[in-house]
Amino acid sequence: MTRYVVVGGVAGGATAAARLRRLREDAEIVVLERGPYVSFANCGLPYCIGGVIQDRDALLVSTPEKLKAEFDIDVRTRHEVVAVRAGDHEIDVRDLTSGSTYTLSYDKLLLSPGAKPFVPPVPGIDLEGVFTLRTIPDMDRIKQHIDEVGAQESVVVGGGFIGLEMAENLQRRGLRVTVVELLPQVMTALDYEMAAMLHAEVEDHGVQLILGDGLASIAQGEARGLDVILGSGRRVRGDLVLLALGVRPESELARLAGLALGPRGHIVVDSSMRTSDPDIYAVGDAVQTYHRVTGQPCAIPLAGPANRQARVAADNMVGRGSVYPGTLGTSIVQVFERTAACTGANSDMLTREGLPFLTHTIHSHDHVGYYPGATPITIKVLYAPEGGRLLGAQVVGTNGVDRTIDVLATALSSELSVHDLEELELAYAPPFGAAKDPVNLVGFAATNRLRDDSQVVTWESLAKNGDQYGILDVRSAAEWEIGHLEGAVHIPNTEIRQRLGELDASKTWVCICRIGRRAYVVERILRQAGLKAAMLAGGWDTYLAATSPLSTKEGTMDADGGDGRQETLAQTVALAEPAAAASVVELDACGLQCPGPIMAVYQRMQTIEAGAVLQVTASDPGFRRDAAAWCERTGNRLLSIESDDGRIVARILKGAPTQVAAASPTPVSNSKTMVVFSGEMDKALAAFVIANGAAAMGQQVTLFFTFWGLNALRKPQGPRVPKNLVERMFGWMLPKGANRLKLSQLNMGGLGTQMMKAVMRSKRIDSLPEMMAKAQEQGVRLIACQMSMDMMGIKPEELIDGVEIGGVATFINETDRGNASLFI
Ligand code: FAD
Repeated sequence: MTRYVVVGGVAGGATAAARLRRLREDAEIVVLERGPYVSFANCGLPYCIGGVIQDRDALLVSTPEKLKAEFDIDVRTRHEVVAVRAGDHEIDVRDLTSGSTYTLSYDKLLLSPGAKPFVPPVPGIDLEGVFTLRTIPDMDRIKQHIDEVGAQESVVVGGGFIGLEMAENLQRRGLRVTVVELLPQVMTALDYEMAAMLHAEVEDHGVQLILGDGLASIAQGEARGLDVILGSGRRVRGDLVLLALGVRPESELARLAGLALGPRGHIVVDSSMRTSDPDIYAVGDAVQTYHRVTGQPCAIPLAGPANRQARVAADNMVGRGSVYPGTLGTSIVQVFERTAACTGANSDMLTREGLPFLTHTIHSHDHVGYYPGATPITIKVLYAPEGGRLLGAQVVGTNGVDRTIDVLATALSSELSVHDLEELELAYAPPFGAAKDPVNLVGFAATNRLRDDSQVVTWESLAKNGDQYGILDVRSAAEWEIGHLEGAVHIPNTEIRQRLGELDASKTWVCICRIGRRAYVVERILRQAGLKAAMLAGGWDTYLAATSPLSTKEGTMDADGGDGRQETLAQTVALAEPAAAASVVELDACGLQCPGPIMAVYQRMQTIEAGAVLQVTASDPGFRRDAAAWCERTGNRLLSIESDDGRIVARILKGAPTQVAAASPTPVSNSKTMVVFSGEMDKALAAFVIANGAAAMGQQVTLFFTFWGLNALRKPQGPRVPKNLVERMFGWMLPKGANRLKLSQLNMGGLGTQMMKAVMRSKRIDSLPEMMAKAQEQGVRLIACQMSMDMMGIKPEELIDGVEIGGVATFINETDRGNASLFI
């Protein structure tokens, strides 16, 4: 009877053994496993530590008894293979329970010995409290240690997927966590800016993240616990230290057997999973196969490849000609409320192999924004400049990341191009996806570039070579206020057609909006107007994620051993309390399309009274930072911000704190009024400088335009309206619009006014029309005096959009409510 012997009884080994039985009922199958368990779910270990998986036995996918009963497989746990004599077709096995050793012959041998965690040879590495995680006994030891020492603080060394999963689960178990990573980013399978989105997520959940600093040594702490000493000399304390520094292949047995090994010690196999010995096969973390994109040898320690390799190996062990096509490295990890996934090659890999590539990044939603629960999703694709073949993809989001990466992995397996992504017909109904699925969108964006409909500047290129470009920010005033690039020109996308003349035609303008959608449209307008233009890939969101410094402070220990980690285990930051009686207005800003929730907040805040609380729920992760910045700049107060299952809930107190208002003998009003009587440029400028400033501080501002002041409100090219002779004469004589107003002094036949405008441009001071537009965006009310209009023959159609027509009563009403009134 043919005897198949399998070394290692977990992912690869157990799969191969079951497949062998399905193919050969007449064979003898023996599985030898060094540990106490076979076929366990090591991928579930972090979640069992965190308590997500509560039943430890659920990790035991199968047992020797079940494998015997169902597959007639002879499984021997605690049996270690200590030697392979390939020439004799024999192995030596040590029974770890009895200590005895015996010899077993085989016809075909399969090695699936896996990998072992890398443990760096640094001082203190053997101290009690330092752990690695690979097996169920490892997990048991960690859980026991946490309980026995009452661990409160932990240090995870390594920011790969096991490190991040452990960070989340240790925190879930109630420990404070620091993650230390030698490289400048976590999850090196991702490109930097995609990983940077995880940095924000980790920090926002109260985990201290130390990047660019490695483990140097570990020492016993003075009071208790361990001190982890980093390369920089910095010390971080932990009652538990988890090493998650990657793995090394368990290939010693193969080496001793004389099998060919790769440069990093992996067992070399061909596409049938056969080693350099014709009767020995190998699979899983211990082997090196081929990367399907680069064609180069690679070793990617993941469960999916191990399982598929096992199936191919079993086929070939019984004489079927199955081929393993290579590995794409498709993987996914959950990091708190975000999920990150990748497939194929990343930028580093392609650069290393000298393969030319282009990239594009888009931000979209997992399903249409109008259906409840939509969450943002970011997709980056890497593709060949010639023909557009897809080379790699990365996805970060809250929901739908798994589906998206799987579509892209399938596209990669089939060697599809970004043109094919445009055409993929994917399932859509409002709860799922969109008629233009994010995968289609990234295909559109990438092919726009191949067709030269768009030129793309990446965040790196802008960060390094920004001075080579003109930067045109096309976001709204509220978004611009939250943050913008120094030196950028701000023209909201809705105004660009009228204001093209403001752009220097000798420059290449990089258009920036929040996610790229508006920037692309503006880029098209500019290019069709004969200007040189490009867009920032991934927009402001990607730029900000990639260039924002970590917020974690230097973790010097205080007397109590505290090191600056945030107390946000409940994911709630309570910042202040409103008066108990404050009314609460709710705003659901989940799934809002660009420009996102901050505009919705801005607009809703105009409608509520000072002292009321706006409770906003948003699914955009960037809202956490935006909300804080916006409140700081607008004089509103962020009372609390919390995240729950991918949703951010912010409570914002409008205007002045209620406590202050309550303590005042009379209510403090929050509005200002101005009479704009003058039709002179400098006076109108002064009025709008004050109006914008007051509005930015959360005040309600009303400007009442009367007599010559009305000129500022006229359209430069008003429509033809019926007028009598006197009205027509007034119309000819008076300046038409803000741009035609003159200085009250030093006008010098118009020369002084032009000089003033030139000085304002050179100092990047907004022109009067720009200031007026900003004021309107901020909700400043512009009221034209009805009586003055009648007298001067000015018709409502001649005024710029958004101006109200009102009488003295309207104005007096506003002054009554206000606490200051100016006459200009
Ligand atoms: P293993 O499953 O490790 O099995 C090897 C077995 O061989 C071991 O049990 C070992 O005891 C035994 N062995 C070794 N030498 C001998 C010997 N001489 N004699 C007898 N027995 C021997 N992958 C994913 O794709 N997704 C995930 O989410 C994921 N999460 C993970 C989380 C953790 C904590 C860990 C540790 C791994 C995770 N992985 C994940 C990786 C995945 O588990 C491995 O890629 C997969 O288990 C590899 O299978 P394998 O058969 O090569 O090795």
